[in-house]
Amino acid sequence: MKELVIIGAGPAGISAALYAKRANIDVKVIYMERSSLNMAHEIENYYGIESISGKDLYETGLKQAKRLEIPLIEDEVLGLSYEERFKVIGKKATYEADALILALGAYRNVPPIKKIKEYEGKGVSYCAVCDGFFYRQKKLAVLGNGTYALHEAEYLKALSKDIYILTNGKPIEDEALQEYQIIDKKIKDLTGEEKLEKVLFEDDTSLDIDGIFVALGSAGSADLARKIGILLDESNKIITDEDMRTNIPGIYAAGDDTKGMLQVAKAVYEGAKAATDVIKFFKD
Ligand SMILES: Cc1cc2nc3c(=O)[nH]c(=O)nc-3n(C[C@H](O)[C@H](O)[C@H](O)COP(=O)(O)OP(=O)(O)OC[C@H]3O[C@@H](n4cnc5c(N)ncnc54)[C@H](O)[C@@H]3O)c2cc1C
Repeated sequence: MKELVIIGAGPAGISAALYAKRANIDVKVIYMERSSLNMAHEIENYYGIESISGKDLYETGLKQAKRLEIPLIEDEVLGLSYEERFKVIGKKATYEADALILALGAYRNVPPIKKIKEYEGKGVSYCAVCDGFFYRQKKLAVLGNGTYALHEAEYLKALSKDIYILTNGKPIEDEALQEYQIIDKKIKDLTGEEKLEKVLFEDDTSLDIDGIFVALGSAGSADLARKIGILLDESNKIITDEDMRTNIPGIYAAGDDTKGMLQVAKAVYEGAKAATDVIKFFKD
């Protein structure tokens, strides 16, 4: 039986899961606690519900999926790849699928470092698997302190022996990062003539560098999309057609990670639409 994996358990992910399960699709949801809904104090504009806290709505969604016996797996997704089937690389396990729905929300972890945007594509990258090749045998850094940073560093290790972990003042959260050269000072700025050349720290020391790979916190939708070649628009939203299909057959996106309103109603619709197209995709 063909398998669908949905990443995200917010309104988009759970809505997709409900539609898929009720059509007898083998579906599982991989998710973390983080959701925009958990930050919404009170929601009063969703049809049929007078007033509810975002947290309660999120929990109710999870309960509704459990009631249909949809497997809900708490794991942090670090990467995506394709080898005969889609592979979702999580912190705890790797999951295989014949179709994917990305419903990761709008989270994007851009560090508040002056000039970081200026050096994007000129020494600053958000994807080791996409851009690592251009930095072979160069002096590289991964900006991050957790398992996602480790995942990016592990990929770069095959391309360069000179890899630093820049935590920007944060404590190391994954002990396996200790095998790399760690700098835990706060970053003040980045410099370089036409491309990135140096990281300046708040204690007025500096590090010569050719490339920085940003991997703060956990991977967001744009990070995962880049790893497998899904097209993004200028504001890093996943591009889909009206059936929520991305440019890669079998991969769909729904909710805040596509363009348009950042609203529960839109996320619920897009999740339902994506799952409905997966049903057709599996039949074909
Ligand atoms: C303060 C605030 C107030 C709001 N008020 C309203 C309102 O009144 N009405 C309204 O309609 N909307 C409101 N919204 C917007 C609403 O919360 C979002 O539009 C909605 O939650 C989007 O749903 P989603 O499923 O696309 O994403 P989310 O709800 O953000 O869910 C994303 C899911 O992806 C998971 N995830 C993300 N990254 C990973 C990863 N690397 N690995 C595994 N899982 C991952 C998350 O854990 C989560 O389960 C508000 C938002 C905020 C922030």
